[in-house]
Amino acid sequence: LKTNYADAVVDIEKIVLGERSRKKTSCNQKRQRKDLSIAVCALLNSGGGVVRMESEDRNYCFQEHGIGLDIEQSLRACIDCTETSDYFTWMQQRSHLLLFVKTWSCGGPEQKSPSAKPRICSLSTGLSRRCFTSVVPMTSSNAAEFLRRKVRCAGRHDENGPSAKKALLNFDGGAKETSLNTEERNIQDAAARFLERDKLMVGEVLDFTETTHIEFKNFSTENILEYIRKTLPNYVSAFANTEGGYLFFGVNDSSEVIGSHIKVEKEALEKTVADTVGSMPVHHFCGSQDGVQFKTHILSVYDKAECLQGYICAVRIEAFCCAVFHDNPESWIVMGDTIERLSIRKWTELMTAADPDLSNLADKFENVLSLSNGPPLIKPVYSKAGLQCVSELQECLYPVGSNEIKWKPETICTDLFSEYPGLEDLMKKRIPPLNKGVLIFSRSWAVDIGLWKRQDVVCDVLLVAENAYPVLYTVVKGASSAESDNWRETAYALKHKLVNEGGYASKVCVIPQILYLDGTKNQMEVAENDVPQQENQENPYDYASLYPENYILTSRDVPAFLRALVIVVLRFKSYLSDHLGCEIFNLLTLKQYELLSKNLHKAKEQFVLGLPGTGKTIVALKIIERIRNIFHCSENEILYICENQPLKKYVGNEICQSVTRVAFLNGNFPEVKHIVVDEAQNFRPEENWHQRARKVVKKKSGIFWVFLDFFQSTHPYGCGLKFSELYPQEWLTKGVRNAKQIYNVMFNLMEKILQERNRYMPYEVLEELFKQAECAHSLSGDYVLKENMGTFEMAEYVARQCNSYIQQGYPVKDIAILCSTQHAAQEFNQILEPELRRQIRKCRVRLVLGPAENVLENIIVLDSIRRFSGLERRIVFGIHPVPAQEEVSLNLLLCVASRANTKLHLL
Ligand SMILES: [Zn+2]
Repeated sequence: LKTNYADAVVDIEKIVLGERSRKKTSCNQKRQRKDLSIAVCALLNSGGGVVRMESEDRNYCFQEHGIGLDIEQSLRACIDCTETSDYFTWMQQRSHLLLFVKTWSCGGPEQKSPSAKPRICSLSTGLSRRCFTSVVPMTSSNAAEFLRRKVRCAGRHDENGPSAKKALLNFDGGAKETSLNTEERNIQDAAARFLERDKLMVGEVLDFTETTHIEFKNFSTENILEYIRKTLPNYVSAFANTEGGYLFFGVNDSSEVIGSHIKVEKEALEKTVADTVGSMPVHHFCGSQDGVQFKTHILSVYDKAECLQGYICAVRIEAFCCAVFHDNPESWIVMGDTIERLSIRKWTELMTAADPDLSNLADKFENVLSLSNGPPLIKPVYSKAGLQCVSELQECLYPVGSNEIKWKPETICTDLFSEYPGLEDLMKKRIPPLNKGVLIFSRSWAVDIGLWKRQDVVCDVLLVAENAYPVLYTVVKGASSAESDNWRETAYALKHKLVNEGGYASKVCVIPQILYLDGTKNQMEVAENDVPQQENQENPYDYASLYPENYILTSRDVPAFLRALVIVVLRFKSYLSDHLGCEIFNLLTLKQYELLSKNLHKAKEQFVLGLPGTGKTIVALKIIERIRNIFHCSENEILYICENQPLKKYVGNEICQSVTRVAFLNGNFPEVKHIVVDEAQNFRPEENWHQRARKVVKKKSGIFWVFLDFFQSTHPYGCGLKFSELYPQEWLTKGVRNAKQIYNVMFNLMEKILQERNRYMPYEVLEELFKQAECAHSLSGDYVLKENMGTFEMAEYVARQCNSYIQQGYPVKDIAILCSTQHAAQEFNQILEPELRRQIRKCRVRLVLGPAENVLENIIVLDSIRRFSGLERRIVFGIHPVPAQEEVSLNLLLCVASRANTKLHLL
């Protein structure tokens, strides 16, 4: 796999091309055709790309000779439909022929309804089924339907208890469940009776015939064992995937008993059948481990003289609960630099992938990107109901000029133009005269999409406009700083992310171009043997020699392209992913994104003041990711400091070193270059943490960001920062994590805290912050306040509510019970646990109460409010939040409230 393009290119080398030449098909040509099919299949499944081939005939001309019927047929077979021009475009470059392949998509670009098309492209499914008296291979669509039905089945049986075994419909025992009519039943009875006989005569005619459930196979050669190995899998797959059935070896099509070759041993027959069936691949959705259920009957056949004439070998195959393959499915995917064949597990996973069912969640979500309508590798993306939707976000981030090319975002443009005087003119000169589109500046598109920044890059500029190819201009200072092997990487990744993350399913390319600030001659960044240079020099904006013209964006494509771009840039892994056991994504808000897009070379020190529930921790984690990509850091070079053990454990050590404040103060961190502090409002004034951290970072001239939320202070001593020195400062004021009703509670608490003014806090700033407070979505949620309850009464109440939530289908990992102190939590545990056991006895849920450290596990968290800071759950019970220090009781209440996403009970 070689990339001269900023795209996946599969080179299949020499091939015989042309209508006439391909008529005489040789073995070699078949192999070439197969290679082409594999390449195309892999590209369809991985976001599209280019297949490059060279004609064996030097004088080949696409226009004159065409491709060849058999190749056309095999391409048609790849996409399982006749819309070849939607997926494929041919282009000749001298003796090379390029086939541009668009990504596979199971839905149309605009259509919203779920489609019946399979989610991925396969050359064969490896599955068979029985159809009247024949075995037919399942097509991709058949298989998709079949597998989905099996998934539904497995799901149903799960609910009704552990009955994987029940799913094994015994086809002659459980006839009610199958669609056998009287005639078929009679035939099966006859077959069953037949198997009980111990002696058969040659030439005897059976009293039943072939049906959907019965197949006769004649054989009498010595090679019977080989024959069984070859034919049996197909029949077993077909019978097991349909309704089960009998396969008779040694009976001909006219139901006449023939028998096997005399030399073949009975044991060998049995063993061959057992080995063959035993080695067949199966896939379960139901959790069972069973293989195909079958039984072999060997009946002796005699001639008139009572001499043994061989055997009839009858195999009874039971209907299978899930899927039985006669062979591995033929489907490929591009992995790094190679093409890999999908395993059965991966294949079925992709074939049956479906959006998670969020309908019974308390949170309301809007499906932004759905698996039922898009390219094979996408993951579903949701946004909270009422938050700005993707097209609104796109309007804000990447608005398309009505009669001009807009330059966005203005702040970055202004910064860049003042920093690099020649840049504006250079861009003006280089941008083709287009009249509708957007030019998107970024200090590094690589970092925006999660790749390492190249240090010599001044900026990346993405042009998305009507009637033009999308172009990614990479501006570097001069020729000396350019020349690197991986200059296509960003454009390549961007193209594939638009498809595989953003869900863009139309034909798409991103053409990379390098611009030199110092006036070095600009050149098309494509190796010379690909495109003759003089062609481009005539018209510097003409990329038509690179990509076919139908890769130019139309007025319909531009908004879809930009929406996909919004998803690529703003998506982050949702905390719901763990709840649902599959990866799903949410979108950042614009303000969060703006913060992240800061020029980290300048904004080395930053204070971020946030109101509760504005997603500070998400931004903190995202900024760590950016620091890593911009400065090429290892995880040891970035330190994340927070107050409590549980949050520290949640953040983990994968993207950075995470420590608690105490560990930081006691430790020594020679490797650390950058520091991100979360929840600094709870740090202690006497410990001088700020100076210490600053010193570490200053030495390496690293990044130092501090996230604070004074409203959530849980002690009254201040945090050791001078409020006049919280500079530069940014605010997060849009509430996104808590439902509206809970947000209102938080809002009132903040108001009261501001009125009380009884502690050391920067009230002036907080007043201003509070003025901007807003709840950014419309999800309502629940809030319950119960006052004057005794402890036992509380325990009874909490247990009853938990029970009711669990009955409604909430997992126990949705619930947190938070008390004022750790001590109070332990005491409450003593009373609550027996009460919970008593009430929840009836439902079969393993019930565990645990500390906040285990927030990611399937337990009900019971801990103190402080130890749960920075974490969240959908359902939170706040138990009697009266702290030791009177001054912070409101803050503590606010803390507990802001931990709840959708349901809050205050007792
Ligand atoms: Zn199963």
